[in-house]
Amino acid sequence: MNFFRRPGAGASSEARFFVPLKHARIIMVLPFVLAALAIYGLNTVRDYSDDRRVGQLMLARVEAAASRQNVVESGTLQLAVVADAKDPGVVRAVDGLRENIEPLQRLADTYMKEVRAQGLPRPIADRLEAALDAYHRTLDTQIELLEGGEFDQAFRYDHIRIETAASTLNSAIDDANVSYEELARQANRISDIGTVAVVLFAALILTLLQRQRTKWAGQMAHQALHDPLTNLPNRLLFKDRVEHALARSERNGLKNAVLLFDLDNFKSVNDTLGHEVGDHLLIGVAERVSTCLRPADTVARLGGDEYAILLEDVESATVAETVARRVLSSLDQPFVLKGHRVLVNGSIGIDVCTHLDPIEDILANADVAMYAAKARGKGTCELYEPNMRHAIVTRVDLESDLRNALDANEFILQYQPIIEVATGTVAGIEALVRWMHPTRGLVPPLDFIPLAEQTGLILPLGKWVLETAAIQAKQWQLEHPMTPPLRVGVNLSARQLQDDGLIDVISEVLRSTGLEPSSLILEVTESVLMRDTQSTMEVLRDIKRLNVQIAVDDFGTGYSSLSYLKHFPVDVIKIDKSFIDGIENGSEDANLVRAIIQLGESLGLKTVAEGIETRAQLEELRRLGCKEGQGFYVARPLDQKMMDLVLEKTRFEDDQEFTDVAPEPVG
Ligand code: C2E
Ligand code: MG
Ligand code: MG
Repeated sequence: MNFFRRPGAGASSEARFFVPLKHARIIMVLPFVLAALAIYGLNTVRDYSDDRRVGQLMLARVEAAASRQNVVESGTLQLAVVADAKDPGVVRAVDGLRENIEPLQRLADTYMKEVRAQGLPRPIADRLEAALDAYHRTLDTQIELLEGGEFDQAFRYDHIRIETAASTLNSAIDDANVSYEELARQANRISDIGTVAVVLFAALILTLLQRQRTKWAGQMAHQALHDPLTNLPNRLLFKDRVEHALARSERNGLKNAVLLFDLDNFKSVNDTLGHEVGDHLLIGVAERVSTCLRPADTVARLGGDEYAILLEDVESATVAETVARRVLSSLDQPFVLKGHRVLVNGSIGIDVCTHLDPIEDILANADVAMYAAKARGKGTCELYEPNMRHAIVTRVDLESDLRNALDANEFILQYQPIIEVATGTVAGIEALVRWMHPTRGLVPPLDFIPLAEQTGLILPLGKWVLETAAIQAKQWQLEHPMTPPLRVGVNLSARQLQDDGLIDVISEVLRSTGLEPSSLILEVTESVLMRDTQSTMEVLRDIKRLNVQIAVDDFGTGYSSLSYLKHFPVDVIKIDKSFIDGIENGSEDANLVRAIIQLGESLGLKTVAEGIETRAQLEELRRLGCKEGQGFYVARPLDQKMMDLVLEKTRFEDDQEFTDVAPEPVG
């Protein structure tokens, strides 16, 4: 077979270009061998990655333990503390190591055979073989150490022996390669060069694969456990750290705290300034949060704008709350991102846990607490309490029902009379919304107003309340004329106050119902008033321009300074029920209520007491000079028909209360 003969070539050149059949076959199969080797090698890398990840997880634990050790107690690294040989993670890591050694060994055997067959100088071949042997032995020993639970030794072994063995092996391969080149030069036969090329190539691939594999496996392991954007640990690694912290707390009896931290207005940043700015913000937040923690604590990004923090060995919930507040106030300063000043805040839910708590419960509890924090008003933290969970579960169910409730006419208004404290005459009413749920019955406003705020339903609902109350009040004014005409109080929520269309809605309702603006009192709670003072102030001024009155609801529960009252254009102070509760016994509360009434008088504001439940309270309020009051003692919130009866009666006599006609509210 002369297919390697050049056409027209002479006899002398024939000898040079003739390649023996045996070698021709080798050259022909060479690409296949190399491809097979490459595929084989790559597959090994892929297979390896999963197990490597487990190994990496173990190393990550080691890192965590190391940093904790530095903080808590100095001393040698005791890996035995962080893992045990029966730990499934360790077992899988060892299996992975073993599985990957076998193909390597087979490859090496083939390689050595080839080396010997090619007549490489003995010392070089021997050294190569010895280096390969030593390399495998170190890996075997490593496996034995891991299986025997001697982790600290294994750890040191990994760093010293394995690296030494690998570098000896690499240098032996280099020497072999040099020696091959020498052989090839001397042999002057193309077939030898071909064979040498195969071996060289195999050696090269072996080395490259070895290096690449380590690099890729390392990268893959890192990616598997870290968030690519912020480089923080991801959910998987975070859970592992929590699990591990729980195991430790079983031994040392200390508690851990898990904090879930979610940005409140991230979506709007992303929507208005774009994803790039959003990404920078997430990185910036990660950096700020990290500065609030001890080196031994862990901060992770769970996804989106959600971060998780693990505080180990906390003495009490107070410590966790302090850290949470520190994290929140780290956001006080705006971020400057691509020329934009971006201000964000966040909400944090905290669960303080012991080793008895299952990890899934811990994360779920922190999540529930975080929702509670968001519901309470953003930019705050909440500690998990068991009753929160019920509230959230109910919330989820309610949310979908709530969307249909307005169309289904499921909302109703009740009215609570407000009387002049001195005379008992009805001076006004407060409209209070209720939801007649088809299966749950009467749902009180505090169970759905916050939800309606979050979903935006509060805007159409608020308009409906205002309109319905105005129509009803106007009708009662006509049926029961009095001087001044019956006033109606309607509650406004924070979201309504922020709505640009609010003033138009109010004007339109007044116009369409014919209710005098001075008969309408809009009630805003103290905490809402104080939330964004500048813009709130502007809205209140616009409301005043319509000649509508404004009441501060639940006065005394929010902002502790009274001085702001001077600056807000309010007409009425509604003293919160919590003060009225205690006034009978001439306590501190009575002094407070007296002070509030005096303050109101000096500022020209009317004072209304909320939640009067007893005759003694009413009498005390009379003595203190409170102008008006409402409460169960006088009447519970009533439906329209009951209220009709009350208005016919017009005056409340002590102990002959309206409750004669209205014993219990609907539901
Ligand atoms: P609020 O405006 O302070 O209303 C007074 C609340 O105290 C009412 O609760 C009323 O039923 C209750 N109350 C009155 N007298 C007594 C008493 O003697 N003892 C006790 N224990 N409670 C008394 P309700 O109706 O459950 O409303 C709770 C809150 O929900 C209201 O507090 C108000 O902030 C909000 N709300 C009610 N209706 C609306 C509405 O239409 N829109 C908005 N945005 N919020 C509303
Ligand atoms: Mg009110
Ligand atoms: Mg109130």
